[in-house]
Amino acid sequence: MRIVHLSAEVSPFAKTGGLGDVVGALPWAQQQLGHEVSVWMPLYRQVREGARLGSWSLSPALPPFKLDLGSESHEIALFRSELPGTTVPVYLVANAHFFDRPDLYFADPSGRDDGLQRFSVFVRGALEAMRRLGTVPDVVHAHDWHAALAPMALAWDPSLAPDFGAAASVFTIHNLAFQGAGEVSAFRFLGLPEAVRGQVLWHDRLNLMKGATLAASAVNTVSPSAAREMATPEGGFGLDPIFRARGERLVGILNGVDGRIWSPERDRHIARRYGRSGDAAARAENRRSLLTMAGMDADEPGFIVGLTGRLTHQKGFDLFLGALDELLEDQVRFVLLGTGEPPLEAAMRERSKRSRRRFFAYVGFDDTLAHLIIAGADAFLMPSRFEPCGLSQLYALSYGTLPIVRRAGGLKDTVLPFHDGNADQATGFAFDEPSARALRDTVRFAQRTRQDEALWGRLCANGMAQDFSWERSARSYLDLYAGRLEEKRARAGGGGPPRPRP
Ligand code: ADP
Repeated sequence: MRIVHLSAEVSPFAKTGGLGDVVGALPWAQQQLGHEVSVWMPLYRQVREGARLGSWSLSPALPPFKLDLGSESHEIALFRSELPGTTVPVYLVANAHFFDRPDLYFADPSGRDDGLQRFSVFVRGALEAMRRLGTVPDVVHAHDWHAALAPMALAWDPSLAPDFGAAASVFTIHNLAFQGAGEVSAFRFLGLPEAVRGQVLWHDRLNLMKGATLAASAVNTVSPSAAREMATPEGGFGLDPIFRARGERLVGILNGVDGRIWSPERDRHIARRYGRSGDAAARAENRRSLLTMAGMDADEPGFIVGLTGRLTHQKGFDLFLGALDELLEDQVRFVLLGTGEPPLEAAMRERSKRSRRRFFAYVGFDDTLAHLIIAGADAFLMPSRFEPCGLSQLYALSYGTLPIVRRAGGLKDTVLPFHDGNADQATGFAFDEPSARALRDTVRFAQRTRQDEALWGRLCANGMAQDFSWERSARSYLDLYAGRLEEKRARAGGGGPPRPRP
């Protein structure tokens, strides 16, 4: 199959969270399984900078062309790179006005959020460039709202039918909290026929996630539990009737771990690598390096809990703050890394300053520290209110660092909480209620469990034995594509051999 992925984030070129990790890894896993895969993203300023510093290649792939969208015309250029360490092509859609900005989700120079327009330019520019390159795909895989226009354009824009008519589209929802919602007037930027306007409106606003959910050949999210939760009023973020309408066809496919980057055997960032069997000396050295970096007493024994993530209400960092004082009194120490909502950032800085030797918070984005935390802590805390999949708990499991999670979405699907009698299978700790009290009690339970070395070692070994390889996810997506392509071909009345390629 010829597969294209469209995404606003692709690691290592541009990433703010799990989306970047996924689109940086899944295409490669699919290529390994014998498919022709490419990745499409905007050419942000930081991608140019990375190329200038030699982090990756960047070369022109097409002569510049004009893209007419609504009443405006945009100059588009296309560049090519590769996912580092692979031969997977990455195509970068360039337009200086929309993408040459200080960061990925930066508003326009006047401070206006023009996201709907700029990501429409990205998607339309990408589809036109595919046509010009002569690489029209069998499957267009669009990730999150930024790429949501792609399934809509394929389904509803008749001008694309001659080239893309046989292609299936897949829309993956990584984060339901961001839906691409905005003023109805932005409809003109999408380049869709007036007749489908109603399909893209939700409660009198434009909503790209809704439109793509209706238009795509297949829709999925990134864990089975999240797929179920999305169809309920509590978990649907207002779109649950739309998700319910897709019924059984809205599936959950778990993300994987990119073992080239996140495995204790190959990790480039940590003090000492170690194997699947766990290696006490290496673990101790990583712990020491983490504590030293955090300015904590590296000789003091005791329970170390790590946290990394976007500092948002979604991720439950306020619950953590609510339990922090009591847990510090219990002699638990915390190392936290994150950026996000300014009040949470300020609170972390302030608390960390007050309890410097027991609570270290680094407010910023730092790849190396993210790895040190996973490898050096005893446990990794993720108190998310909702979590489509979650990657950090998967990393923690594969490093023998036990996750402490709230039972939501993918956290529920990937961490088996320990209780008396399941030490042979359990891989972590979990709580249900989104409260500081439930969090505190569960961290205390984990701290007590940590005192039994043999038991703790067993739980770590259980976690490290889990298979969260990308190959498994890649195969699930390939099955999804194949099913939808078959349906499309059957509907087109042929079921015959695939179209010849240009
Ligand atoms: P989400 O995509 O919702 O942000 P995930 O758990 O799926 O959450 O993925 C988070 C990814 O982003 C992980 O790879 C994590 O290490 C990384 N990450 C989050 N915040 C930071 C940060 N401040 N510094 C470095 N890496 C971070």
